[in-house]
Amino acid sequence: MPGERIGFIGLGIMGRPMAKNLLKAGYSLVVYDIVPAGVEDVVAAGAQAAESSKEVASRSDVVITMLPDSPDVEAAMLGPNGVFEGLRPGMTVIDMSSISPMTARKVASLAAERGVDVLDAPVSGGEVGAVNATLSIMCGGKPEVFERCLPILQVMGKNITLVGDFGAGQVCKACNQLIVAMNLEAVAEAFVLAQKAGVDPAKVRQALMGGFASSRILEVHGQRMLDRTFNPGFRIRLQEKDLNVALSSGRAYGAPLPGTALMMEIMKSLLATGHGNEDHSAIVKFVEGMAAIEVKGGVTGGVTGGQAG
Ligand code: NAD
Repeated sequence: MPGERIGFIGLGIMGRPMAKNLLKAGYSLVVYDIVPAGVEDVVAAGAQAAESSKEVASRSDVVITMLPDSPDVEAAMLGPNGVFEGLRPGMTVIDMSSISPMTARKVASLAAERGVDVLDAPVSGGEVGAVNATLSIMCGGKPEVFERCLPILQVMGKNITLVGDFGAGQVCKACNQLIVAMNLEAVAEAFVLAQKAGVDPAKVRQALMGGFASSRILEVHGQRMLDRTFNPGFRIRLQEKDLNVALSSGRAYGAPLPGTALMMEIMKSLLATGHGNEDHSAIVKFVEGMAAIEVKGGVTGGVTGGQAG
């Protein structure tokens, strides 16, 4: 049985299956979420419940966080009853949330003052990757801390890379998210063009999958667009959050990101029209709306383009 006691904070779409994989690997797990449902689910799988992030830290050797956004990580780490109140020198904190590199660097330097090691380790691969333990994990931190955490990360993911020092994992995740967003938009525009021109988007997808335009987005999210399955998956509000991270990083570090700025405006429109909790593949509804596609079903069937589904 692995030696470290692990604390896990944030048991949502991603955190629950990741925590369960740690339990399956034999780790002893103490968990907390501000919403009880996630805690109950993971406790039923063998974890112990804590009443606060502070308690998680005080009962663990390694604390993992999987929270929505930078303010949530700041609240769970630095806020009242937060992780920092329960930290002891020699502990390790692995933040696997996708947040701002600037916040990651702030948390890392505050932790270092307390003799605590930090790794930023955001992931890609979605809920399916979390369930199957095939997440890509992009890490920022010290090489020796990365090496020490590797056996834990290998329980949750496959392609695990130390990208650089503190914050480098979050910079890499921002790069990932702007590529994903622009790829989604490209697939949505291709399908809408096909439909307007009287060509079957499903056949277009099939033909393109063998060529230079093939991608995981065309494969998985293209199929979602065709099937009209917009249950998350990865919520539009989180995609918007990640593009905001990319843009604010671009501003902070002097990188112009015009395509990302356009994607941000599209995501903001989808949020404003009530699509924030749908999967980001629902971007196709925005493109359909611009093309005045009113036919029942949008690209192939289902709800009318532009409606919340
Ligand atoms: P989620 O909203 O489903 O889960 C987040 C959980 O954190 C919720 O259960 C919430 O109650 C809890 N939480 C929020 N604030 C808290 C606090 N202060 N203390 C304790 N718990 C708190 O989100 P998710 O989809 O699991 O995503 C988590 C992170 O992983 C995000 O940063 C997201 O961008 C990233 N991510 C998500 C996916 C995906 O496909 N869902 C893929 C890759 C990365």
